[in-house]
Amino acid sequence: MCWADHIVNIDILQGSCTIIRIINMKEVTCVICEKNDTKLHAVNNNFSLVKCLHDGLVYVNPQPDNSDFQEFYGAKEYFLRSETATIGYSDYLADQPAIIKNSCRVFDELVKFCSVGKVLDIGCAFGFALQVAQKYGFEAHGNDLNEHAITYAREKLHIENVKVGCVTDLPYQNESFDVVLMLGTIEHFQNPREETQAAYRLLKPGGLLAIVTVDFDSLVGRGTIRPPEHLYYFSARTMDTFLQVNGFKVLKMAPQYGFNIFYFTIEDFATRLFDYFYRLTENTKFKKTLFFLKSTTLKFVKKIGIGSQVIPGIDGQFLTIAKRL
Ligand SMILES: [Zn+2]
Repeated sequence: MCWADHIVNIDILQGSCTIIRIINMKEVTCVICEKNDTKLHAVNNNFSLVKCLHDGLVYVNPQPDNSDFQEFYGAKEYFLRSETATIGYSDYLADQPAIIKNSCRVFDELVKFCSVGKVLDIGCAFGFALQVAQKYGFEAHGNDLNEHAITYAREKLHIENVKVGCVTDLPYQNESFDVVLMLGTIEHFQNPREETQAAYRLLKPGGLLAIVTVDFDSLVGRGTIRPPEHLYYFSARTMDTFLQVNGFKVLKMAPQYGFNIFYFTIEDFATRLFDYFYRLTENTKFKKTLFFLKSTTLKFVKKIGIGSQVIPGIDGQFLTIAKRL
């Protein structure tokens, strides 16, 4: 059992309590200014979110240490947990139609700035975005900590160039990619600076980095605080500064104003909706009620066979496309 299971069990049965005692934690510095001048922003699930006094980046500090992190994301159950879990994915495979639709929107923007070439998807999971990359004519490469997901991408989707491991450790050739993707992954990284520097190193000069992450300045985005899964909470402003200090120039951010429309399967949307309210409350009774409602709704959705239908929804995420200088 890894620390995520402890969190799930404790959270459901007792409300958030003494999780910090049973996992290894470490202090980190800001990934933009590398200083440690912060004020407490919020406490969630017994994790402290701090805000950097220099650049405004919000992040979890202290954080779980690396061995816990690898174990958590490497577990087969991360992408296929019980439907009542509030951490990880209840069924990532079932989200494929929505992920493909969202990835198409990213590539629709990317192809405005580049023609075809080699794409590396950092944290590619089962390879759905790479399927889309291939459809748009790109050569698809990807990595993920989860061996089960990589095996699926290789064997079921026939994507050959996928590897298990962290991008900072894998032997990719410098300046060999035209596009690097971080789609819903940067908020999970232990050190987004190291991963982004790896992206810089692996991209050709003028190559593109596309990042999709939660916008902490948006109302919906602020409701997606999910420590310890989500460790970094960017906004348009902090993302711009972060990319500048790492040698990138932002070409596009979307949406600039208003809400982002994102596609979900009905099952995933229902899951996220209940989890959103679940995280907002510390009231155990209310949590148990939400838990019951979520379980009943998901069973009903499955029973009538509409769980995998794709619907548009409002999401607190934003897309950034930046050029490697
Ligand atoms: Zn800072």
